[in-house]
Amino acid sequence: MNSIVIGSGFGGIAAALRLKAKGHSVTLIEKHPDLGGRARVFKRNGFTYDGGPTVITAPYLINELFELFKKDPKNYIQFCPLKIWYQFVFEDNSKFNYSGNETEMKKQIEEINKDDVKGYEKLVTFTKKIFDKGFTELSDVPFDKPFFMMQQLPSLLKLKSYKSVYSLVSSFVKNEKLRRMLSMHPLLVGGNPFTTTSIYGLILYLEKKWGIHYSMGGTGNIIKGLEQLMNEVEIKIIKGREVTKIISKGSKISGVQLDNGTKFETNNVICNADPPAVYEKMFNGNTSNSFMFNWKKKRMEYSMGLFVYYFGTKISYENVEHHTIKFGNKYKEHLDDIFNNKKLNNDISYYLHRPSATDKSMAPIGQDCFYVLVPVPNNQSKIDWSDEAEKMKNLVIDKMEKDLMPNLRKNIVEDFYLTPDYFEKDLNTKFGSGFSVQPKFTQSAYFRFHNKSEIYDGLYFVGAGTHPGAGVPGVLSSAKVLDKIL
Ligand SMILES: Cc1cc2nc3c(=O)[nH]c(=O)nc-3n(C[C@H](O)[C@H](O)[C@H](O)COP(=O)(O)OP(=O)(O)OC[C@H]3O[C@@H](n4cnc5c(N)ncnc54)[C@H](O)[C@@H]3O)c2cc1C
Repeated sequence: MNSIVIGSGFGGIAAALRLKAKGHSVTLIEKHPDLGGRARVFKRNGFTYDGGPTVITAPYLINELFELFKKDPKNYIQFCPLKIWYQFVFEDNSKFNYSGNETEMKKQIEEINKDDVKGYEKLVTFTKKIFDKGFTELSDVPFDKPFFMMQQLPSLLKLKSYKSVYSLVSSFVKNEKLRRMLSMHPLLVGGNPFTTTSIYGLILYLEKKWGIHYSMGGTGNIIKGLEQLMNEVEIKIIKGREVTKIISKGSKISGVQLDNGTKFETNNVICNADPPAVYEKMFNGNTSNSFMFNWKKKRMEYSMGLFVYYFGTKISYENVEHHTIKFGNKYKEHLDDIFNNKKLNNDISYYLHRPSATDKSMAPIGQDCFYVLVPVPNNQSKIDWSDEAEKMKNLVIDKMEKDLMPNLRKNIVEDFYLTPDYFEKDLNTKFGSGFSVQPKFTQSAYFRFHNKSEIYDGLYFVGAGTHPGAGVPGVLSSAKVLDKIL
C-alpha cells in the first residue's frame, strides 16, 4: 500500500517507520527544510539549541523504532540517565532536587514537612495504579468506539479521574510546595494542573519507571538518527514542501496536493499536522455535517502557548542544573490567567534548560547554552507578540538574574525567541498552542480527535492532537495506535 505522512514530528516519523515495517511504500512530507517539528534544532554561532522536547522519558519507545528493522539503537543514538531530574526553585529561594533516588526524595520531603512522607509514598502507589491502566493498558489502543470508552469509565472513575492532578496530590500531601512540585506534570503536556484529569498523574510514575534521560548531542540527535534510519529503509522524504490540500472523493481520501501544485495519489493519508487545523484548512472548506463532530470541534479547549527564549552565555553557570523549574509566587493565579483569562501576568513561573550541564558539545568551550520556557496564553488571547515579546524577554531575564544567574544580561552573547505566533504560523497549530488540544478528561481518549478519522475513509492522525496526547511518549504511542488500526 502507498501511504503519505504529513509532518515530521516524532509522531509522524514513528508512523512512517511503523508503516514501512508493515510493508507500505511511504512518503513523508515536511513543510520545513529540516525534520522534527517541535523537536527541530537551531544551530547558531557554536550553540546547539533543541527547539522543544528536552526531558526524555520511556526511551524504549524510541528504541523500538530501530528494533522494528533489527537495527541496534546504540549505533544511532545515546541516552544518558540523569541523576537530578529537576531542580525546583521556590519563591523563598529554597530548592528541591527531584530525582529517582527515593531516599534522597524522602529526606528532602521530611525537611519540608515530616508528615508528608507517608502521603508521598501513598501517592506514588496510587499513581502506579493509574499508570497501569492509563499507560500500560490504554495509551496505544484505538479509542474510536463509544462502547470501548464506556467500558473504561468504571475503572477510570475508581482511579478518581474526575479529580484534577492538583486535587489528587493534595489529598495525599499537605505542604503547598510539595503539592505544586508533585502535581506539575500536566504542564509538560499542555495542561493546567488545577483542571487536568488526575489520569495524567501517571506521568509521575512513568518518570520513576524508566528514569529521565538526555540524548547526547541533544534531542535533535534522536531526530537525526531516525532520519538516517528512514533513509536506510527507503522511506521517501520530501522537505521544504507544505501539503495544502487533502483531496477526497466523497468521504474517501484520494490524494494530497503540495504548495507547488504537485499532486500525489493515495488512499492512505496519515496526518501529523494538528487535527483541527487539518479539518479546517485542508479540505477546501468542506467540513463535515456530522453534528457530534462539529460540536466536538467547536467546544475543544487548547493548551497554553509558549514563549521560549534561547540564549548562549559567555561564561558557564555551574550552579544551574540541567532542568530547573521555578514556581512564581502567584502560581495558581498565573495559570488561571493563562488558561482562563487569556492574559499575561508578571508573576511568571518558568522552566530552564541547560543541556551543557550534561553535554559540553552543546556550547563553545567554557560557555553555556540555555532555553527558558514561559507558559503564556495561546493566541485566543489576541496578544500582539510583536509588541509583548521583548517585554517578556526582559522580564524573564530579570527573574533569572534574581533567582539563579547574577549578571545574566551582560553575559548573554547571542539569543532569539519563539512565541505562539511561531506555533500558529510555522507549525500550523490552531491558536498557536504549544501542545494542541488540552489534556482534560472531556478531551481525552474517545473525546479527542480520533486516530482513524471520524469523517474520512483513509485519513488517520498521529501526534499531540490525537489519542493519547502530547509529549514524546504520547505521540510515539499514537503511532502504535495507528499500527493497530491499519
Ligand atoms: C518548547 C517545548 C518543550 C517541550 N518539552 C518536552 C519534553 O521535555 N519532553 C516531552 O516528552 N515533550 C515535550 N514537549 C512536547 C513534545 O515536544 C510534543 O508533544 C511532540 O514533539 C509533538 O510531536 P508531534 O508528533 O505532535 O509533531 P510536531 O512536533 O507538532 O510536528 C508536526 C510537524 O508537521 C509539520 N506540518 C504541519 N502542517 C504541515 C503541512 N500542511 N504540510 C507539511 N508539514 C506540515 C510541521 O512543520 C511539523 O514539523 C515540548 C514541546 C515544546 C513546544
